[in-house]
Amino acid sequence: MPEITSIPFNDNYRRIATEEAWASPELLQMYADLYNSGKIDDPGFDSLWGFYGTSNANRPATVRRRLADLDEERLADMDAAGIDFAVLALTSPGVQVFDRDTAISVAKDTNDIVKAAVDRHPDRYAALCAIAPQAPELAAQELERCKSLGFKGIINNSHTHGEYLSDPKFWPIFEAAEAMDMPIYLHPNTPPRNMIEPMLEAGLDGAVFGFGVETGLHMLRIITAGVFDRFPKLQIIIGHMGESLPYWMYRLDFMHNAQVSSNRYEALKPLKKKVSDYMKENVYITCSGMAWEPAVRFAQQTIGVDRVMYAMDYPYQYVLQEVTDMDNMDISDAEKKMFYEKVATSVFKL
Ligand code: CA
Repeated sequence: MPEITSIPFNDNYRRIATEEAWASPELLQMYADLYNSGKIDDPGFDSLWGFYGTSNANRPATVRRRLADLDEERLADMDAAGIDFAVLALTSPGVQVFDRDTAISVAKDTNDIVKAAVDRHPDRYAALCAIAPQAPELAAQELERCKSLGFKGIINNSHTHGEYLSDPKFWPIFEAAEAMDMPIYLHPNTPPRNMIEPMLEAGLDGAVFGFGVETGLHMLRIITAGVFDRFPKLQIIIGHMGESLPYWMYRLDFMHNAQVSSNRYEALKPLKKKVSDYMKENVYITCSGMAWEPAVRFAQQTIGVDRVMYAMDYPYQYVLQEVTDMDNMDISDAEKKMFYEKVATSVFKL
């Protein structure tokens, strides 16, 4: 089959891509400098940004160029793939790899840069607000600023220096997100030091496997910590077809109940609902990097057609064939419009 080089826009639905990464040239330089300094004790960061930040091989060099472009090249790539609209998010690890003060200032600077891009191309882009989890008490402040500038949600690149949002010290972030009705995109980060070693040794720490395992765990920790009992209107979006969680739901319900009722773990407390209920009421899933019909339809069946949406994962996975594959899914036209357009316009209020 010849390689597809251009996909027309679709008359029946707008294609909205909801996990599209960007980074300023300055931030990319900061990652390269941090890696080269050898000062960071984070093998996951070294593995990811040692490669994407410094290698001149074709793939990492192309990814760097595309991450930093918010104008001609990105729009041309969207046009070629028939993507109408992109929700932009600061690439992993965002500001979360830095110290507290640096993270606060880089979050603000990068939010200003992406806001300017949205202003230049308001019919093509919306953006997610980067906040510094290192300063949860300031989250409401930057979020309020972002909301007034038209941002549509929050980007959080999984753990911050090995700490998870399930820790109540981060809950001011959830409180602010719920109060301002801003969904949080929980995007992968490289697994932290105490998790990554057996993955790294096998070369499986990255997007091939490690990211999904780590982020699935993070989402599950948020559920089992009772975050949604405390913040019932909070909405969290996870990519990569739900980081495998839909496939686990049956067993999660059974074993969570079994462990809680036998008081096996101090950390595992009773919840108001089943684990799967939170997946259906507080979690959205995108197909970033997983444009695979059986997985999309399984997620639609398990958590709901109104909770599963399209994402391309540009520029890490820019594959035009995937758009054709999603167009050709054996689902109704109404479901296809939900998948590509209506779920995204609803959760991000586009
Ligand atoms: Ca991504």
